[in-house]
Amino acid sequence: MQHVITVPPVDFQTNGHRAWPLLDAVPAQPKPVPAPKGPVPARFEQAPLDAGVKLIYRKAADRVRVAYDPEQIDALNARFLTNIYVDFTEGAQIDGLCNLARNTDKNSREMYAIMLSEVDRTGDAPAVIERITELLCKAHAEAQTPCPRYGWCIETGQHVEHTGESVEPDFLEVDRGEVLAATITHWGKGIRVGFLDEDLTPADARTRLAELRAHLDAVEQLIATAEASE
Ligand SMILES: [Zn+2]
Repeated sequence: MQHVITVPPVDFQTNGHRAWPLLDAVPAQPKPVPAPKGPVPARFEQAPLDAGVKLIYRKAADRVRVAYDPEQIDALNARFLTNIYVDFTEGAQIDGLCNLARNTDKNSREMYAIMLSEVDRTGDAPAVIERITELLCKAHAEAQTPCPRYGWCIETGQHVEHTGESVEPDFLEVDRGEVLAATITHWGKGIRVGFLDEDLTPADARTRLAELRAHLDAVEQLIATAEASE
């Protein structure tokens, strides 16, 4: 028995302002015969199909085969769509990926769709998952690499903007402490010292610091005057 699911184009103009998610746009279908037992093993394959035919599935008692057109529907949505009609399983690993994809944001979902597409294209799920795990571990290890250029830089992994740890006076309230906080950066225009709300060259920073010291001397003088008046 072969089922063909035809999804007509959605007219967003006449259907109100809400963009319908894909699955809402699937018209009512004849109810499938309920499966007597648990999920059946499924196999997904990619194939060019006629325009408007996103996927075709062929269901036997003990398994289901799905052919979908990657030009019209991605590997993840092919599974979500099939899941409306058939309770299926692809083994713990792939089922786990689909469940993760179901409960994540749009960008991550695209990543899962690419992974699943690769599984369908090669037909070798363990190899694809192993390769992806390798790449993720490598990316994770690279992300932990300390800055190769400056010892004071707290950025890790690939970066072009170098930032040092901020030095803040801890005897002032947080928002006042920020005024006197200092940090060292290199964001493409040479080494700068962030101090007194400015990004200063080291030479300029020394000048400002001297001014600040002179100011503190003046404050000390003021204190001495106050003490002498007690
Ligand atoms: Zn750096």
